[in-house]
Amino acid sequence: MQYISTRGQAAKIGFCDVLLAGLARDGGLYVPENWPTLDTAPNANYANRAASIMAPFVGDEIDRNVFGQLCADAYSTFRHPEVAPLVEIGPNEYLLELFHGPTLAFKDVALQLVGKLFDHVLTQRNQRVMIVGATSGDTGGAAFDGVASCRNVDLVMLYPNNRVSDVQRRQMTTIMSPNVHAVAIDGTFDDCQDLVKAMFNDQKFRDANQLSAVNSINWVRVMAQVVYYITATEKLGRSAVFSVPTGNFGNVLAGWIAKQMGASIEGFVVASNTNDILTRFFESKKLIANEVVPTLSPSMDIQVSSNFERLLFEMNNRDGLATAKQLTSFRATGNLDVAQSVYQQWISGVFVGRRCNDEQTLATMQDVYQQSGMLIDPHTAVGLSAGRQSAGVDYPKNMPMITLATAHPAKFPDAVRRATGQTPQMPEHLADLMTRPERSVSLANDLQAVQAFVAGCRN
Ligand SMILES: *Cc1c(COP(=O)(O)O)cnc(C)c1O
Repeated sequence: MQYISTRGQAAKIGFCDVLLAGLARDGGLYVPENWPTLDTAPNANYANRAASIMAPFVGDEIDRNVFGQLCADAYSTFRHPEVAPLVEIGPNEYLLELFHGPTLAFKDVALQLVGKLFDHVLTQRNQRVMIVGATSGDTGGAAFDGVASCRNVDLVMLYPNNRVSDVQRRQMTTIMSPNVHAVAIDGTFDDCQDLVKAMFNDQKFRDANQLSAVNSINWVRVMAQVVYYITATEKLGRSAVFSVPTGNFGNVLAGWIAKQMGASIEGFVVASNTNDILTRFFESKKLIANEVVPTLSPSMDIQVSSNFERLLFEMNNRDGLATAKQLTSFRATGNLDVAQSVYQQWISGVFVGRRCNDEQTLATMQDVYQQSGMLIDPHTAVGLSAGRQSAGVDYPKNMPMITLATAHPAKFPDAVRRATGQTPQMPEHLADLMTRPERSVSLANDLQAVQAFVAGCRN
């Protein structure tokens, strides 16, 4: 399997190069040359099923048995034997629980595997990389946990000082492995992201320090998320709609790929909080960026969803130059229009957008608690509310609706307490998280200072 860039200018490369490159040199995102067809049999073991679903994407670059073992290792860190259990909560209403990994958010499903893959590929190539990234929340902890035991990876993660939750910060700062570094930047998340971009755009620095990325535009993260859409429909034994709490559009794009491969999926409810650029797009065929508003579901407080580029590329019949032109104009004007015929072909009947504000989020959390005694996190609540708005309107009421439960309630205890009066219990392996010693560095919002720090972290 070869990979091409959504902007049409970068050379084709194979799976292992895509893993290490993250972003293509032409600024585009890598996608496989074609979507493979699902032709393997269901398997009750999640890791085995994952290996067979992902095999066509890996191609012959990693031995089939080795890849199977990497999947087994990655998913052995999950606390639930099914890894991603499907839980019925009402008539035709299900939660797909994706938070049983080490850092309690669905990002573990991809980043546990990404860590194992980096370790394997870099050992084979006798190479070492420096991963740099910025986090506004869940990615930081999941990336730390994913690569803390990698022998050939150093990781520097920038986060905005005093702007991530205590749990999220501690999931980075309490990991003492010498190859991972949490850096508090005196600035906002956007400042952190700009610093990372500037380091990547400095070709000399980038090459000298072997920079690499694990943010959500990395193809391997999307690929690992395709799996649970397929295992969920196989467990259900009939076709379903998925409601997906959405930020960067990575998770819902993975679902769309599962559908392309032949999974029995009717369609997707793209669930947004007050930052509803995608909902407005699905209503108006126009993508128009606004200011970011902070909400109770911070991992979805995003205006420009980077993975949407992969869908745009499909909507342009895989014309990379047209996609690049469209995105350049979007950056300049904050505005992107899609023709009616294109919308009909790619969006109608597949995606609907629904939004849920903080008040509705709390009401949904309270309702689930009263109905079933179950605590859900605010991101999951946005998805559930959106799915409920859509059921019986966009889809028949008797169609199963599966909401992706993207975080454990203990990750967002303040919102859970506000909605239900209950304090969610931290899983045992993190019970002493709030009293563990912390290790972190503070730096000014200054490129030179950050570059000097990164260079000094190389082992
Ligand atoms: C990252 C995240 C999301 C958003 O997922 P995308 O792939 O960016 O759309 C939703 N919920 C939680 C808890 C997250 O951490």
